[in-house]
Amino acid sequence: MEKIKMTTPLVEMDGDEMTRIIWKEIKEELIYPFVDLKTEYYDLGLVKRDETNDKITVESAEATKKYGVAVKCATITPNKQRMSEYNLKEMWKSPNGTIRAMLDGTVFRAPITLTIIKPAVKSWESPITIARHAYGDVYKATELRVGKGTAELVFTSETGEVTREKIYDFECDGILQGQYNKDSSIKSFARACFNYALSVKQDLWFSTKDTISKKYDHNFKNIFEEIYETEYKQAFEENGLKYFYTLIDDAVARVIRSKGGFIWALKNYDGDVMSDMVSTAFGSLAMMTSVLVSPDGKYEYEAAHGTVTRHYYRYLKGEKTSTNPMATIFAWSGALKKRGELDKLPELIEFGEKLEEVSLATIMSGVMTKDLVGLVEKGVEVKPVLTTEFIKEIRKNLEKLYN
Ligand code: NAP
Ligand code: MG
Repeated sequence: MEKIKMTTPLVEMDGDEMTRIIWKEIKEELIYPFVDLKTEYYDLGLVKRDETNDKITVESAEATKKYGVAVKCATITPNKQRMSEYNLKEMWKSPNGTIRAMLDGTVFRAPITLTIIKPAVKSWESPITIARHAYGDVYKATELRVGKGTAELVFTSETGEVTREKIYDFECDGILQGQYNKDSSIKSFARACFNYALSVKQDLWFSTKDTISKKYDHNFKNIFEEIYETEYKQAFEENGLKYFYTLIDDAVARVIRSKGGFIWALKNYDGDVMSDMVSTAFGSLAMMTSVLVSPDGKYEYEAAHGTVTRHYYRYLKGEKTSTNPMATIFAWSGALKKRGELDKLPELIEFGEKLEEVSLATIMSGVMTKDLVGLVEKGVEVKPVLTTEFIKEIRKNLEKLYN
C-alpha cells in the first residue's frame, strides 16, 4: 500500500523505562508501516533531561504551542531514589507539570471501554471523562498549627488598603489553612473544558460546593457561566450539547445513576479524588488515556499511567513482560486523528480510528495482556500474551484492512 501522508509534524515526546520500550514497538509495528510519519522528536527520557538541564522539556512545550498537537510517552518524575539511580545533577521537576504550566492546560482523563469489561457501576454504558483544574486550592495552601488566640484573614491591596475578616477566636489548639485561586486560571480551565466538549461532542458537567462556599466556589460557578453564555452557548446549541452545572453532592449522585458519555469538570481536589474513583470503577489504570488541552486549543495526548517501573526492572533482567500498551496506542491514535482533523487529512483520521477499532477488536477476540485477564466477563475465552505478541497481533489485524 501507499503510506498515508502527513503535512504538519506531530511533536513526539519520548519517555522512560517500560513505556519507552513500548513506544518504539508501537511506532515500528503499528505506525511506520502505514503512515509516512512526520514528527519533531524530543527525547524527554531522564538521561536527556539531565544532560540538557531540562531545556528539552521546555523546547518540547514550545513546539507544542507552535504545531498544536503532541504525543507523549510516560516519563519519570525524579525523587531522591532516582537522583542516585540516574546520577542526576538536580531533582528536575515533573515534565508534565512543566508542560501543563507552559500551555496553561487542563488534563482530561477518559477510560478505554470494552463490552467484555463491565464497569463496577452497572448503569455506565459510555466512558466518563474527568477534567481536573490542576491549579491552586489546597495544593498551594498555606497552613498553620495554632494555639489560643484570634485568627484573621488579611488582604493588603497594591495601593495599601487593608481588608480584615475574623476567621475564629481559638479557645484551644487548632489548625488554619489559607487557599487561593486566580480568575485567569479558572477562565483558562473553563475555556479548555468548553473547547474539549465541542471537540469530542459531549455534554459538559461542572460542580462545586457554591452553596457553602459563597465567594470561593461561587466564583468558579460564575466564571463558567459567564464564559458559557458569552463565548460558547451558540456553538453548544448548534451541536445539540448541554452545559450543566450542579452542586458537587448532587453531581456525585447523578454520575452514579448516569449512563456516562459526558465530561465532568471538577475543582482541583474534587478532580484528584474523583478521577481515581472513576478510573478504578471503569477497570484499570492501564486502560486510561489522558489529554492536555490548552485554552487556545493545543493538544497533548498520553497514557494516564506511569513508566511501569516494576515491569521495566524485570525486562532489564531479560524477562519478557506483559505490559498493556493500549493507553499508549490510544495516545498515538488520538494525536494522529487530531492532526488529521486540523490539516484536513481524512485518511489520517481514518487510520487513527481504524487503529483504535482494531486494537479493541484484538482484545475482544480474547488476545490481551495479563492485567486485563481478571477483569473480563466470565465466559470469554482468554489468551494472555506478552506485549510484543499483543502488538504483533494488532499489526496483523491492521494489515488485513490495509492490503
Ligand atoms: P505506574 O507506572 O503507573 O505503575 C504502577 C503499577 O500499575 C504497575 O506496577 C503495574 O502494576 C500497573 N500498571 C500501570 N500501567 C500498566 C500497564 N500499561 N500495563 C500493565 N500494568 C500497568 O506508576 P508508578 O509505578 O507509581 O510510577 C512509575 C514511574 O512513572 C515513576 O517514576 C513516576 O514518576 C512516573 N509517572 C509518570 C507519569 C506520566 O509521565 N504521566 C504518570 C505517573 C507516574 P503491577 O506491577 O502490579 O503489574
Ligand atoms: Mg489522585
